Amino acid sequence: MRETVTNWARTVTYDAKEYRRPASLDALRALVSGAAKVRVLGSGHSFNRVADPGPDGVLLSTAGLAPVIEVDTAARTVRVSGGVRYAELARAVHAHGLALPNMASLPHISVAGSVATGTHGSGLANPPLASAVREVELVVADGTTVTIARGDARFDGAVTSLGALGVVIALTLDLEPAFEVEQRVFTELPLEGLEFEAVAGSAYSVSLFTDWRNPGFRQVWVKRRTDRPAVDFPWAAPAAGPMHPVPGMPAVNCTEQLGVAGPWHERLPHFRAEFTPSSGAEIQSEYLVPRAAAVGALSAVDGIRESVAGVLQTCEVRTVAADPQWLSPAHARDSVALHFTWVRDEAAVGPVVRGLEEALEPFEPRPHWGKVFGMPAAVVRGRYERLDDFRALVRDLDPAGKFTNAFVGEVLDG
Ligand SMILES: Cc1cc2nc3c(=O)[nH]c(=O)nc-3n(C[C@H](O)[C@H](O)[C@H](O)COP(=O)(O)OP(=O)(O)OC[C@H]3O[C@@H](n4cnc5c(N)ncnc54)[C@H](O)[C@@H]3O)c2cc1C
Repeated sequence: MRETVTNWARTVTYDAKEYRRPASLDALRALVSGAAKVRVLGSGHSFNRVADPGPDGVLLSTAGLAPVIEVDTAARTVRVSGGVRYAELARAVHAHGLALPNMASLPHISVAGSVATGTHGSGLANPPLASAVREVELVVADGTTVTIARGDARFDGAVTSLGALGVVIALTLDLEPAFEVEQRVFTELPLEGLEFEAVAGSAYSVSLFTDWRNPGFRQVWVKRRTDRPAVDFPWAAPAAGPMHPVPGMPAVNCTEQLGVAGPWHERLPHFRAEFTPSSGAEIQSEYLVPRAAAVGALSAVDGIRESVAGVLQTCEVRTVAADPQWLSPAHARDSVALHFTWVRDEAAVGPVVRGLEEALEPFEPRPHWGKVFGMPAAVVRGRYERLDDFRALVRDLDPAGKFTNAFVGEVLDG
């Protein structure tokens, strides 16, 4: 009987011929070179079929390989195997007095899977997590290893690559000296008169949360590096106690707040590494639009607030600095990311997602590759001016399309 494998949220059951966890690199190479169709599954935190190989394909996990985390303190880099999760990586790096520049809201996601979809945190000056990558090591279709480093003409296609080039067995990331962060939550920030750039620029990483039941934002999470000057936050009142971004959920799973300074990796994510953040009963969507359009895009969502609120758990608004990766949703444009955690009811959420995409269309949204979207593939394709370069890279490394599934095929077609 086939093993049933689902994504973390249990909204996608992968449609694979077999699920394989090779226990050695040699076994992985043999598996890849002998298979007709392969997709790699990271930690399975995507909400769509980006990782799905289809009924004739092999779903391959690297979880059976021994994890590698090699910190080079002199060079300030770390070489990490693709399946390692950020929580584990961050602890190891911190133990050497070093830091990653930024993290996503959840530390439980794999490094290779995260950078493959353009995963990001927040901060006016913080590009997606892929921007820390300086080298990627891939097992390509014939089972050999190809290493692509920053400076190689192919590099800007090789990190945020949707898993379409091969199996990422290791990545080398840039590090910086460890730093401390203090996190404060403010409540009830009005949308009217919102000085978005000032609010988003008031600290290293800022996230705005709302349930859209009323105009404006229920919470603003402000993460300040203690080695940078403090900036006043005059726009909203500080929370009296620790908060969870989803109203009604206990804050016990959230990272320390109330301005208590602590290590970067215990403040930059919203959720603690040692807890499971939620039951996974959710669907997520996210759209990146130019940062200059932030207030316009937020007002557009406000215009359909009631339909959005009806199926929403929480909406998070972050900033993402421009990124050179050809397929990055933040490619070549400083962005604001509008994220929606929906209830896990696909029938109810689908029409709201379509309405949201119509409302955001004037701002040329690029959807997050790991989340649910309904925009026509041709529209998404039109938002990526370096798509032809990416197509050429796929043809070069994977001429038979072994790593191209239906999802990637739609992106590449046309
Ligand atoms: C609770 C929660 C919170 C989240 N928070 C954020 C956030 O703060 N910011 C944000 O931007 N996103 C966020 N996401 C989305 C998440 O970061 C992305 O979906 C990311 O891709 C998940 O990584 P993964 O390893 O689980 O990927 P998977 O879903 O397993 O795979 C994603 C893609 O990567 C490919 N891939 C994975 N491993 C490899 C490998 N070794 N080699 C080649 N290809 C590979 C897969 O084939 C697939 O195409 C969140 C998701 C959840 C569920």
